[in-house]
Amino acid sequence: MVPEFPRIDEEVEVTELEEYSGGSAANYTVGVARLGIRVGFIGKIGNDAYGQKLKTDFLREKVDISQLKIANTHSGTCLIPIDLNGNRQIFSFRGANAILEPEDIDDTYIKQAELLYITSPPIEVATFAAELAQENKVLLSYDPGGKVIRKGLQFIEPVLYNTNIFLPSKSELALLFPQSKEPKAAALHLIETYDIQIVAAKLGAQGSLIVTKDDAIHVKGFKVPVVDTTGAGDSFAAAFTVGIYKQWDLLRCAQFANAAGAIKVMRMGARTALPTLKEIKTFLAKNKNNKQYNK
Ligand code: ADP
Repeated sequence: MVPEFPRIDEEVEVTELEEYSGGSAANYTVGVARLGIRVGFIGKIGNDAYGQKLKTDFLREKVDISQLKIANTHSGTCLIPIDLNGNRQIFSFRGANAILEPEDIDDTYIKQAELLYITSPPIEVATFAAELAQENKVLLSYDPGGKVIRKGLQFIEPVLYNTNIFLPSKSELALLFPQSKEPKAAALHLIETYDIQIVAAKLGAQGSLIVTKDDAIHVKGFKVPVVDTTGAGDSFAAAFTVGIYKQWDLLRCAQFANAAGAIKVMRMGARTALPTLKEIKTFLAKNKNNKQYNK
């Protein structure tokens, strides 16, 4: 926390300092673990105190870390100063994440999985893992996030060709298709071009739009007081893919995932606020009349 952002050559006093384990992929993994599903993390950390903390936090959440590689460098780190008005800046250092290589991926680990979720490793790693998943009939869900999506459709194409479930946000769909205003049309285009089975578009407070070749359902968001939206997408993705893994129908998956997103935004923090299975069940029971959708 800072009173204001410094200008060039200026110094400001940091008034509060907090340290959290984070990263979209790691938060997703913890989200799945809290829903009671066996899950592992494939990635690289540095041999520093941040890496050690990430590892300890994974272990506490019962995440399998057998595929967590440690490199002789710094761990990926983000520095996020927030001013008194809640504005933030993000300084993102990829660190060990940037040197994850296809050679770091253990084929057998992916082959025995039910579902693989890819965020934003180096694109050659994403492509390698996606092809491996497809060859071995492992369901692949892909959520590269805004920074990768800004590089354009062509950049993520090699992964999209192997994707079963794509999880963009509304603004990311708009970045991919600046000429099409409509998320449904954009989703259908992706489905037809890349043979994707499900596009689950995250619409913030408006909920989610689930599109398949034959159907489109808009499942309205739950009306909740918003405290912090950081990590809502990861919470949604964890719950949605857990629903798919449990072979629920798409409406149930979307309602479950909207609930996971809504619970997250009511609480502070990207990682700490991720709900457990029990919390989602209780929330859904209390909000029965709020489960609206349009076909
Ligand atoms: P991202 O974090 O990837 O930008 P969203 O902001 O769309 O994704 O949030 C993911 C999901 O969390 C949404 O699809 C919705 O289900 C839920 N959600 C997000 N913001 C709100 C909100 N203000 N009220 C209720 N639900 C929300």
